[in-house]
Amino acid sequence: MSSLSTHDAIVIGAGPAGTSAALTLARHGWSVAIVEKSTFPRRKVCGEYISASNLALLDRLEIGDAWRVNAGPEIRRVGFFSNETCVEAPMPDAKYGPPAKDGFGRALGRDVLDTLLLQAARSAGAEIFQPCRAVAIYRDGDMHRVRIQARGENSGDETTILRAPVIVAAHGSWEPGPLPSQLEKTSRPSDLLGFKAHFTGSTLAPDLMPLLAFPGGYGGMVLADHGRLSISCCIRRDMLARLRRNHGSGHDGIESPLSAADAVFQHLMASCRGVSDALDGARLDRRWLAAGPIRPGIRACYEKDIFRVGNAAGESHPIIAEGISMALQAGWLLARELAGAPSGPAGREAVGRRYQAAWRGLFWTRVYAAAAIARMVLGPGGPALIAAAVRNFPQALTLGAHMSGKTRPVPGLM
Ligand SMILES: Cc1cc2nc3c(=O)[nH]c(=O)nc-3n(C[C@H](O)[C@H](O)[C@H](O)COP(=O)(O)OP(=O)(O)OC[C@H]3O[C@@H](n4cnc5c(N)ncnc54)[C@H](O)[C@@H]3O)c2cc1C
Repeated sequence: MSSLSTHDAIVIGAGPAGTSAALTLARHGWSVAIVEKSTFPRRKVCGEYISASNLALLDRLEIGDAWRVNAGPEIRRVGFFSNETCVEAPMPDAKYGPPAKDGFGRALGRDVLDTLLLQAARSAGAEIFQPCRAVAIYRDGDMHRVRIQARGENSGDETTILRAPVIVAAHGSWEPGPLPSQLEKTSRPSDLLGFKAHFTGSTLAPDLMPLLAFPGGYGGMVLADHGRLSISCCIRRDMLARLRRNHGSGHDGIESPLSAADAVFQHLMASCRGVSDALDGARLDRRWLAAGPIRPGIRACYEKDIFRVGNAAGESHPIIAEGISMALQAGWLLARELAGAPSGPAGREAVGRRYQAAWRGLFWTRVYAAAAIARMVLGPGGPALIAAAVRNFPQALTLGAHMSGKTRPVPGLM
């Protein structure tokens, strides 16, 4: 059985990029469909930190107050933990950027944030298809059709076809798939795989967000909502394989490799004293999550008449913790352009050009700065070199946070 419904826009994916775009379009009177494959609330591999420069946008999206009520403490210090080194410095403030109503960033679990955003999109009038996976996009004259499949026990074989002139790909970048906007599968030794967990009862200073540097990877820790510590990291595929082999257990002559999560956790605890101190006596809150490989880089923002937002359009190394900000801002930028443009293919082409120029103007420094920092950390002896540098010049951490875009206001909002 199949059914067909028509909208002004179809948004694939209900992460921050998709909901920001959908909710802005819906507030401009567009009829919007959001297709999301997971059931919410859902946890996600992410450090969950959002810089204060996004607060004006969260207010515009009408979730600013809920975010302020729910998010963890203000992060006033940035740190660097590697081996025995624990250095900290002030988070950049008004000295580096324009004064904001909310001075400092905070972290909010993605289970909470993404649900708040999706509820706001629903209240704005967006129609939500969830849990449903978009499995194909094809042309239908001046429109596109998107085939979606319901997920879940009672969904049977039911297929729904959605039709709209505007398609927004907001499905992230870490999963390959059949859509023309999805990336090809990759499997290289240098791939970076993402891991994340929540712990309760940690002793990390509540206003500190340290960058973690360890052989084969990098990560971060921050206190989020409800006393949960969010720890997340990226580790090279070949390093992970080595750790799993070397630290596996052997019983009755049979070698059993360590689980990926256990290998990552042991590696973090052994290679960063700051992590083992902060997690001494802390309890794991549910299981570790894994994702990836991550795909840092800049991609086309508009291709084959499909708009891309968030990670689908481009992604910085998460070493700078700016992905949610970029996703929220890209969704909003695109929706603003679309809402003011004439309909039809020529209008979409023009929006595509303007949106791509705005995206690159706003984000390219972040993407390249993050790639440079990641290259240093992942290079031979990188963590030790950076540790020596920041021990002598801790202000480099403040400067690095500033350069990563943490004080850059969203244009048109401040
Ligand atoms: C280790 C790590 C730590 C990080 N820490 C931070 C941090 O502290 N701060 C920060 O700002 N950023 C951080 N990031 C980056 C951040 O998580 C991403 O940049 C952000 O989630 C991108 O948002 P998005 O909306 O583009 O995509 P996503 O958040 O990935 O959302 C995509 C959505 O699309 C859905 N979807 C996918 N395919 C389909 C389909 N075919 N049909 C329907 N639905 C689909 C998915 O279920 C998902 O809900 C981190 C990343 C990693 C790996």
